[in-house]
Amino acid sequence: MDTITKQREVKNFIDGKFERNGHVSMDVMSPIDGSIISSLPLSDYSDVDKAVKASQKAFTSWSSKTLKERVQVFFNYRTLLEKNIDELTKLIQLENGKTYGEAKAEVEKSIELCEFAVSMPQIVVNEVQEVSKGVECRTESRPIGVVASITPFNFPNMVPNWTIPNALVLGNTMIMKPSEIVPLSSMRLAELLKEAGLPDGVFNLVNGGKEVVEAICDHPGIKAVSFVGSTKVAKIVYKRATSTLKRCVALGGAKNHLIVLPDANPEMTASNVVASMSGCAGQRCMAASVMVGVDKVQHIIDKMMLIEAKKLIPGENLGSVISAEAKKRIENYIAQAEKDGAKILLDGRKTTVPGKEGGYYVGATIIDHVTIDMSVAREEIFGPVISIIRAKNLDEAIEIENGSNYGNAAAVFTQSGGLAKQVMERASAGMIGVNIGVPVPREPFSFGGWNESKFGVGDITGRSSIEFWTQNKKTTSKWNPQAQINWMS
Ligand code: NAD
Repeated sequence: MDTITKQREVKNFIDGKFERNGHVSMDVMSPIDGSIISSLPLSDYSDVDKAVKASQKAFTSWSSKTLKERVQVFFNYRTLLEKNIDELTKLIQLENGKTYGEAKAEVEKSIELCEFAVSMPQIVVNEVQEVSKGVECRTESRPIGVVASITPFNFPNMVPNWTIPNALVLGNTMIMKPSEIVPLSSMRLAELLKEAGLPDGVFNLVNGGKEVVEAICDHPGIKAVSFVGSTKVAKIVYKRATSTLKRCVALGGAKNHLIVLPDANPEMTASNVVASMSGCAGQRCMAASVMVGVDKVQHIIDKMMLIEAKKLIPGENLGSVISAEAKKRIENYIAQAEKDGAKILLDGRKTTVPGKEGGYYVGATIIDHVTIDMSVAREEIFGPVISIIRAKNLDEAIEIENGSNYGNAAAVFTQSGGLAKQVMERASAGMIGVNIGVPVPREPFSFGGWNESKFGVGDITGRSSIEFWTQNKKTTSKWNPQAQINWMS
């Protein structure tokens, strides 16, 4: 990790140049050991305005290239992601704290996202039809203009790549506002995009916090905003961006329920549930947060406890959480559950890692006999914690899942196709798993939740995102003077 630990200061990337113009700065910390690794400029409206002007200028030539020309840059970018995978992985680890394997999987997913984007010429085929003799209608997908992407801390490489390849291949130019907690990965992506041959101004980075997000929502030169983060901020961004008549899709937080039926395969279920709640230290919007155990599932809980959760060693195969505040928040939730009468089967509080005492670690935590009124049953904890609620039957389990304000993912573990189908049909969530604890759809399928896990129409990746990043132009033409004249043409 040597070359990576010597980080440069974070800079904005505008019109193909890295710059930092006397901004007030904030420290960037590594959650692995609490050390300061960089400093970040707190940009403002004037930086967003400068990036918008560069993007507008670049839009004219970028949008006039053919789709097949634009994807060439992303073939190169995909190769560069692959070539630099070890460095990119270590950079994610440094700023986010996840394990090497988790961080590498993130870059691998970014590569898959690029592969979808470069297949766009095969997917986005314009339509043409002769609607009456000599008269033709055609529909073309056109880019929208300057778009913005605002990202969270938990996937510093993958979430930016949810939007960059698709939006740019489709002819837009972009301003990205990465999470101020993990800005280094995005800065490296900007370098790789330039190396891949992306023209100046097509992709811009403006670093900072709330002020930059507000400037993006308000700026009249930006046509569309995508946001990924907590529900609280997703609501603010959705309201503010749409109030200035932008199109917006805002993905929020989650509280995912896994319904475990007594006939489920015990080994597979125990390992899937534990992997889902603990992967990336539980800081995934697709993480299992509540296990609804239907009827007699004690043997599965025993396996989760005795075999699976015990394998998790903080600092080795269980990464850190993002900050001291996050650690405190997660530990407070566990304490509250205990006070409310739940049973802490496995307690991850008071975890330290020898040699990394300044790091923010929480051990895997399993809380049993949780009831639906408790905060650990209702609120997003965003740590390696699972709450077990016991249900008498499947109807009661589905009712518990349906009672959540969120609706990102839900899963069922069973060997019965009929019971699985009931959950597929009745769960109130956008992404459903059957015997899968992290049901992330893979390209060309789209990613996006329901209820308070997503605001706006359409999903953020896959085929559904094409509509978000484009607008249709409809042309009706007649070149034949002998063409029939009728009521339509
Ligand atoms: P966050 O909402 O705190 O921050 C997200 C972005 O919003 C950041 O760029 C941040 O600078 C900005 N921001 C923060 N407060 C703001 C405010 N008051 N006004 C304007 N902008 C503000 O989220 P986070 O803590 O970085 O990420 C974790 C959250 O993201 C979790 O809730 C997680 O479930 C969610 N998430 C959701 C998905 C999904 O697909 N639904 C994916 C990843 C993460």
